[in-house]
Amino acid sequence: MGHAVDAPTGAIAPPIYLSTTYEREADGSYPRGYSYSRADNPNRHSLERVFAGLEGGAAAAAFSSGLAAIGAVFQALVPGDHVIAPNVLYHGTTRLLNDIFTPWNLQTSYVDTSDLAEIRAAVRPNTRIIFVETPANPTLAIADISAVAQIAETAGAKCVCDNTWATPVLQQPLALGADLVVHSTTKYFGGHSDVLGGAVVSKHADAFFDRIRHIQQIGGAVPSPFDCWLLLRGAQTLPCRIRNHSESAFKLAVFLSEHPLVERVYYPGLAAHPGYEIACRQMKSFGGMLSFAVKGGKQEALAVTGKLNIIIRGTSLGGVESLIEHRASIEGPDSKTPDNLLRLSAGLENVEDLIADLQQALG
Ligand SMILES: *Cc1c(COP(=O)(O)O)cnc(C)c1O
Repeated sequence: MGHAVDAPTGAIAPPIYLSTTYEREADGSYPRGYSYSRADNPNRHSLERVFAGLEGGAAAAAFSSGLAAIGAVFQALVPGDHVIAPNVLYHGTTRLLNDIFTPWNLQTSYVDTSDLAEIRAAVRPNTRIIFVETPANPTLAIADISAVAQIAETAGAKCVCDNTWATPVLQQPLALGADLVVHSTTKYFGGHSDVLGGAVVSKHADAFFDRIRHIQQIGGAVPSPFDCWLLLRGAQTLPCRIRNHSESAFKLAVFLSEHPLVERVYYPGLAAHPGYEIACRQMKSFGGMLSFAVKGGKQEALAVTGKLNIIIRGTSLGGVESLIEHRASIEGPDSKTPDNLLRLSAGLENVEDLIADLQQALG
């Protein structure tokens, strides 16, 4: 899918088309489909086909980052429209809504999207998008995608799902009723912490998607051909990697939940997690991300990260290396994240080594 042997040369790995411009025919037309690289280029074209195919959508648009993709969806609305968004949400998306789209006169209500009654109560006549992120950053809160999609349909709104943490390998929001999926492909699609990217996938090639396409091409937040090439390469190993990430995260979650110095583990694959049953229904497995609260406060949590030898202190997720982060520090003074919470992205190292590293760091 999106991958074919290069016809002129037989190259198995696709060439990177760095050209920004393409030849016109004498009559002024572009029969080969490409004119200028901001509008489209062969590497991005292949990547978008892969995004659409994996998510089961009719069309996809690739962006230069996850936030550029998410921003394009909100930009496709008009000022005065209303959005319902989760109160547990990737903090960059919250900042995008508050700092960029609120002054643009987009109305936003933040609700607990795991509570359907709260979502229903927030619906207004001008509600256009109900946005969910599931599992959500950083408490792994789960939203019931098909139930939220039904509320959106009744309200005449679109259900948009940030599927970054699950990936289409584990969860297919469009099949569950969502209208659009967004991704930070910087994370699991790229998979090696070396490329930024984002995607919007639409169930239908409709007028709303045309607006997103227009924002991509005219707004210009497009990925470079090399970025697309790296993401396409990442996509080829995504299913194997995500299974491994997910297996390791589950083992780490079980280990941590039995540790006396851990107050609480946030992982939707544990029966104690409030979203466990919905996660079992809508996910194939539970993903590579987990959070845990260390007994004590910020100092105790930071002390654990200071003693780790294999797991690296750093933001982001979805790479081959395990990363740990004190989330409240990066989210800033408005953060509602508990001060003793650490977020962990399970990498592809031997999971026994990761468990031993946490064991010695917890002391
Ligand atoms: C990282 C992330 C984003 C933002 O993506 P960028 O590629 O950093 O712009 C959006 N949503 C989720 C869930 C993320 O983890």
